[in-house]
Formats: sequence, C-alpha cells, structure tokens
Amino acid sequence: MQLKNKIPVGISACLLGEQVRYNGGHKQSRFCLQHLSKVFDFSAFCPEVAIGLGIPREPIRLVGSIEAPRVVGTESHAMDVTDALFDYGVEIARQTQHLAGYILMSKSPSCALASAKIYNEKGSLPGKHAGMFVRGFRRQNPLLPLEEEARLNDPALRENFIARVFAYHDWRHNVAGEPSARAVVAYHSRYKYLLMSHSQAAYKQLGQFVAKAGLMPLEQLTAEYLPAFMTAISQPATRKGHANTLFHILGYLREAVSGEVRQDLANKIEDYRKGVVNLAVPMALLNHYLHMHGSEYIQSQAYLQPHCYDLGLRNAI
Ligand code: SF4
Repeated sequence: MQLKNKIPVGISACLLGEQVRYNGGHKQSRFCLQHLSKVFDFSAFCPEVAIGLGIPREPIRLVGSIEAPRVVGTESHAMDVTDALFDYGVEIARQTQHLAGYILMSKSPSCALASAKIYNEKGSLPGKHAGMFVRGFRRQNPLLPLEEEARLNDPALRENFIARVFAYHDWRHNVAGEPSARAVVAYHSRYKYLLMSHSQAAYKQLGQFVAKAGLMPLEQLTAEYLPAFMTAISQPATRKGHANTLFHILGYLREAVSGEVRQDLANKIEDYRKGVVNLAVPMALLNHYLHMHGSEYIQSQAYLQPHCYDLGLRNAI
C-alpha cells in the first residue's frame, strides 16, 4: 500500500525515549523509532506524568480484585490514582479520534494492554491484566488497534498489528469521513481476501451482511460492520488461512498464464503452507503475475499489500 502521509498512531512516551518513567529513565524502542516511525506519525502520552505524578516518583501498582483493581503507591496505599488514570484514558481517547493505532508499554500498571500484575496481600493474582489508563481508553474507543511493544518482537503479532492499523486508517479515511453504503461496499470489496485469510466464517458472514447494505439504515451498517471486521482480523492469520487465500487468488490467473507457471505458483504456495518458505515468497510471485494479468478487482485487494512493502513484514511470517 502506498502512503501519502504517515499514519497517526499513539504511543507510550517512554517508548520514544522520553525520560518519564518513575525512576527518570525511559524504555526506548529501536523498532518503533527506527522502523515504524517511517510510516507512523507518533503522538506520545505519559498518563502518570499527565495526571500530576512527578519524575522521579513513587512506583504504583494494581491491587485488589481482578474485576475492579485500584492503582495505588507501592509504599503508600493512601495514594490512589485509579480514577485519575481511568479518566485520563477516556479523555485521551476522546481527543484522539484521528489515531489509527496505539503502541503501549508492557507490564505497566497504567499502559499495559494485557501484561500488568494485580496484587493482593498474598502476592500477585493469576493472569495478566490491562493497566488503568488502557481500561479508560478502551472504554471510550474499543475498536482502535492496540498492541504492546514487547509483543511486536513476535513477527506474526507485529505483521497483524500493522495490518490492522493500515486497515483502520483506510476505514477512517475512505468510509468514516463521508459514510455511505457505497463506501462500505467498496471497503469490504477491497478487504475480501484479507478477511478470508483470517476467517472463512467471517468472510461469509460479512459478505452476506454487506449484500444487504442498501436495505438497512447507514448508521446500522457502519456500526455493525466495523466491529465485526476488526474482530475478525484481530488475531494473526494461520499458514492454512493464507495458503487457502493464495490458492483462491491463483484462480484469477487461470486463463492468463501457462499451466507450467500455475504449477510453479501452486508449488510455492504449498511450500509456504508446509513452512519451507515465508509468505513473501508466494506473494512476490503472485504479485508479479497479477500486476501483468490481474483484473482491476484483484489488483485492488488489500491482501496483496496490506502495509508498506519496505517494512518487509511478510519476510518473517
Ligand atoms: S509506561 Fe506509560 S505511564 Fe509508565 S512511563 Fe511509560 S508512558 Fe508513562
């Protein structure tokens, strides 16, 4: 996908190297700074500093129950910043409707997406939990793609997060800006094969839903389509899902290339399915032939290049 402008994405300020942690340090992420900053225009937030905790400061942590933890000082339980952090999350989500994603610092009682600990008098409770800022943010903006920086070290999670950000950004620009049934249908049409790679069931259900686009109020159409779409692509597609999609796309070359070329492409897809090569291998070959012989419809598929080619994300999955 070609980008005219960088995509606006939120980030925990300490990941950009800002010295805002409780001890005056940072947690600079080389991947975010050196690679993602080429395609993402980062807006940095430090919730703990924003609510008035100083630098350095007493560390805080989540305590109490899994259902309704509080955020208090590690030394002074009288310092309770639960509501301040939650409300700040709601407020930032309200103010940043233009964002297409958010990268969060893991394990933080404020910023963690799903890796913070909750403590009680006996120690830490089972499971990994969201920080209080994120709880407020998600309450206000539940569909925004969120990911923890540490999880971006996993190639499949990284590729999936960045693809979700690009898809959400596309929706915001090409559907939400000027909503219409036609815009939703066009969006769905572009993302058909991306959806198929994640879930055959969602591909069918959303196809049936969009077929009735003209028969329902526009508000219902957009309000129901986007959550279902974002949920369907929220987990990385499997090799089986990708291979199945690639074989479907190969069908578009049936008349255009020789049997020998088709067999070669099919062999590469099989190699990918068996884990012998990465996704970039069959994708590069297919893109080559689709570029020469593919219809406008198949060339418009987001699946063929769901994010920036230069990031090389499909070389690692
Ligand atoms: S994890 Fe969040 S609250 Fe903690 S220093 Fe980083 S940005 Fe600030």
